[in-house]
Amino acid sequence: MQVGFTPVADDLFREIILDHYRHPRHRGRVDPADAVVEADNPLCGDLIDLSIRFDGDQVAEIGFEGTGCSISQAACSMLCDEVSGASLEHARDVAARFKAMLIEDGSPDDLGDLEALQGVRSYPVRVKCATLPCNALLQALGDAEVRT
Ligand code: ZN
Repeated sequence: MQVGFTPVADDLFREIILDHYRHPRHRGRVDPADAVVEADNPLCGDLIDLSIRFDGDQVAEIGFEGTGCSISQAACSMLCDEVSGASLEHARDVAARFKAMLIEDGSPDDLGDLEALQGVRSYPVRVKCATLPCNALLQALGDAEVRT
């Protein structure tokens, strides 16, 4: 399968990314959903359709559909894995620390498979691919705030 350019030198990290890309977790639309966010990264042609159902202050269920490069789709799969069943506070924290890792050279601790994307920060154009699902998640969490 041709998955395009993956700017990650480490073989283990590359394997983790390709595994999420080929076998995305939480694929599909959550129904019914409390928040649906469509996001795109025109620079690369990535599309993410993120849907979430909340239960109190928890992420009860999260799913996504999308097309695009391996970085954007793998990042979304990893992010959904990390925040599924978590509190809104934890989800917001994961999103913030993931962005910090990519944009501010933040420490990639306790981010699960998302840590495999740390090499992307050396490629500014691809950072937008990785932060796309993250921004969609933050927007969806904002909807939760409005609702409660
Ligand atoms: Zn991309």
